[in-house]
Amino acid sequence: MMSETLRLLTQQDNQNYSETYLSVIVPIYNELESLPLLVQAIADVLTENQLSYEIICVDDGSQDGSAELLQDLANSRHDLVAIIFRRNYGQTPAMAAGFQYAKGNIIITLDGDLQNDPADIPKLVAKLEEGYDLVSGWRKNRQDARLTRLLPSKIANWIIGRVTGVKLHDYGCSLKAYRREVLSDMNLYGELHRFLPALAYIEGAKITEIPVRHHARRYGNSKYGLGRTFRVLMDLLTIFFLKKFLTRPMHIFGLGGLILLITGLLMGSYLTFIKLILGLSIGHRPLLILAVLLILTGIQLLISGLLAELIMRTYHESQKRPIYRIRQIVQSSNSTDITG
Ligand code: UDP
Ligand code: MG
Repeated sequence: MMSETLRLLTQQDNQNYSETYLSVIVPIYNELESLPLLVQAIADVLTENQLSYEIICVDDGSQDGSAELLQDLANSRHDLVAIIFRRNYGQTPAMAAGFQYAKGNIIITLDGDLQNDPADIPKLVAKLEEGYDLVSGWRKNRQDARLTRLLPSKIANWIIGRVTGVKLHDYGCSLKAYRREVLSDMNLYGELHRFLPALAYIEGAKITEIPVRHHARRYGNSKYGLGRTFRVLMDLLTIFFLKKFLTRPMHIFGLGGLILLITGLLMGSYLTFIKLILGLSIGHRPLLILAVLLILTGIQLLISGLLAELIMRTYHESQKRPIYRIRQIVQSSNSTDITG
């Protein structure tokens, strides 16, 4: 229902801009103090650089009044669209909603906490126009805690680079520029916004990165804890397996199952041999049994998880079930109430 409405809206408004038209997408979750400053800063930079643009702020179920402020701002500014979610869905759904609603032929994403600098947007656009499909920001001097943020990121960037084949210094930087085509037909869920460069690359996009500024968080707190690292790793694993084995999942699952089966049979034969031929007891090997148990269960769980992912993906794609629900879209003198 809801996504139908969105699609209609998008189609109506969609024009083929021959000139550059930017859609700047900002996910907002409890960013009350930063919000008005950020919107103004984006508008100032883009106007100065004579770029046509719209700003799309997606309120992801804020509880601090950000949504109300956003509605007010959108009512009084022509360059701002507010999409208000019914509850908190996460950064990926917020960005996905922005992508779906965006009219521009170039899409910019950045965070709502003033850590990214809007002054970098023209640089990203210029780079994109050199012939790239995606330009990613690289926070060369990132202003975050060294041990809890920078180190895990460094490791994550390395792993993601190895696994996906797209080596970026800074996957976690939200400030990015995309050609619109890159983002159409992407099915996003979980923490997948983080892997957009990798997903785009699989589809043949030309990708590069340029250094951007980064500021310490001025207001509020980071919305993420250590749980994110875990979720990101799981999504990474999924991408890897989907990329490699989406067409023939049995090749990996079947092979794993076969190896387990053969190993189990060999172990069983060995223990049977000890018991029956040598006449020794096999009842005193708790460590062995524990290890076997853990390994087997672990692998089983992992594979069940991957299967579940495959099923979930099919489910999402077949149902076209939205990963978020919108309460309201506010655009100056034109507010759309959406109940669904
Ligand atoms: N965000 C969101 N939904 C969430 C968590 C975060 O829309 O559930 C937004 C948040 O308001 C910010 C961006 O995503 O604009 C990045 O979040 P944050 O700055 O907390 O992440 P960090 O910079 O610490 O990685
Ligand atoms: Mg931040």
